[in-house]
Amino acid sequence: MHANFLIIGSGISGLNFALHAAKKGKVILVTKKKIIDSNTNFAQGGIAAVLDKTDNTEKHIKDTLQAGDYHNNKRAVRFMVRHSTEAIYRLIDLGVEFEKEEGELKLTREGGHHKRRIAYVGDYTGQEIENILIKRVKEHLNVKILENAFALNLITKGKTCFGAQIIRKNKVNNIFADQTILATGGIGQIFSNTTNPVIATGDGIAMAVRAGCKVQDIEFIQFHPSAFAKKTTPRFLISETVRGEGAKLVNSKGKRFMTSRHPLKELAPRSIVAKEIFEELKNGPVFLDISHKKREFLKKRFPKIYSKLKSYGIDIAKDKIPITPAAHYLCGGIVTDLSGQTNLKNLFAFGETTCTGVHGANRLASNSLLEALVFSNQIVKKLQPQTKLKVLTIDRPNLTPSNSKETKLAKKFRKEIQTLMWQYAGIIRNRKKLKNEAIPKLKKIIQELSQIKSTNKDIAETKNTAQVSLLILKAALKRRKSLGCHYVE
Ligand SMILES: Cc1cc2nc3c(=O)[nH]c(=O)nc-3n(C[C@H](O)[C@H](O)[C@H](O)COP(=O)(O)OP(=O)(O)OC[C@H]3O[C@@H](n4cnc5c(N)ncnc54)[C@H](O)[C@@H]3O)c2cc1C
Repeated sequence: MHANFLIIGSGISGLNFALHAAKKGKVILVTKKKIIDSNTNFAQGGIAAVLDKTDNTEKHIKDTLQAGDYHNNKRAVRFMVRHSTEAIYRLIDLGVEFEKEEGELKLTREGGHHKRRIAYVGDYTGQEIENILIKRVKEHLNVKILENAFALNLITKGKTCFGAQIIRKNKVNNIFADQTILATGGIGQIFSNTTNPVIATGDGIAMAVRAGCKVQDIEFIQFHPSAFAKKTTPRFLISETVRGEGAKLVNSKGKRFMTSRHPLKELAPRSIVAKEIFEELKNGPVFLDISHKKREFLKKRFPKIYSKLKSYGIDIAKDKIPITPAAHYLCGGIVTDLSGQTNLKNLFAFGETTCTGVHGANRLASNSLLEALVFSNQIVKKLQPQTKLKVLTIDRPNLTPSNSKETKLAKKFRKEIQTLMWQYAGIIRNRKKLKNEAIPKLKKIIQELSQIKSTNKDIAETKNTAQVSLLILKAALKRRKSLGCHYVE
């Protein structure tokens, strides 16, 4: 198979780029589960942009840099914020119906923002964006969508990318493309506690590194302060906008504790709130309390959270919500420039899998959908068809069934890695333990995994998980001092 553009991933960045690319050539979009399965579909809070009369580019940039502990790439931040307003209006033009009041966009606040600048749709903004983008992409005759198509490896020669090997219907296919786009999202599933759905196993980063791409800032993993404490996969997120609308954090004694810890109290940057909750949890459960708000308001403003928690026996208009931090967002990733270009020719990357530098050491809430959108809005430059395809000979690996002994073993190792990563690379990190315990233990697992010669989606995901985890542990060990969401004990 051949396409002008091979896009791997069907979240906001893959779908949005597909809409632009389809105007220039033939697009194949592969996605490893159903098209809807993505982190994007889980996003609750909203998308940040300069939209209010009292706000401006400089203020949004300032908040982004402050949250990122000034580790950000200022040029990339400025680029993203300058294009933020038009990105929101593009979504509106495509059909996304953000909340409005008297004809104006209704805006909310989240942690680290000094202005109301988050456009939203109830508490299911991502789902609305994802559904609209899917609808628009499906309307394009130039886009062929392949679901349950797992990208195993990039096809490269030297420093050029020619496409990817895809597992689909128990076969390995080579899909060649003039340009290949990684839009594979995050890595939350390498941790045992995460808000990310099962697709988030870091495949794009693992593939890119194997192909020779540069990776940066991968130790900066944002832990969301408020996931529902009930153990589910993924953990259900209680959006930061709940705090934005006035929810208080209280400890087991019913005492509000953020008032004494940060001037922005419950709306302090996420890393600080997550760490404080983590510490408080040592003395008993921690709760989010929004019960002072009227039931009608809560039902209308947070329909998903209201009904989901009700199904677990929690009435947020009366009860406090037990919460815990959970792995949520990867700030770093594959290094790209402002046009999404990686250091491999004809390989691009967009969205959470990248390190554009906008988030620095910690992401400002709701800047991630914005980053994914702004960067994937890059107008596709003139197509340069590849000429060297014929000279490539590519080995196809042997596949093993999903119930094979090797697959079961890989699944067991994946659980071990998730537990190890939560223990050693979670909210608080200790360099001695990283060096003497975490890295040797992970290397042993990697060694055992390397004995599995055949592959399939589960095995490949586990190997990717292990590879990315090792990158994270090594990067965390290298960074001696606390910065942003990397906290060293
Ligand atoms: C619970 C939750 C709430 C959030 N809330 C917000 C919010 O309010 N505001 C905000 O700005 N951000 C939020 N985020 C973060 C934001 O949703 C993500 O950063 C963003 O959606 C990432 O988009 P993406 O296109 O890069 O990746 P994704 O949306 O994750 O899409 C990745 C795609 O790649 C596919 N894929 C991965 N590997 C492979 C492979 N090997 N082969 C084929 N396909 C593959 C996946 O199946 C998926 O379709 C939230 C995240 C979560 C989990």
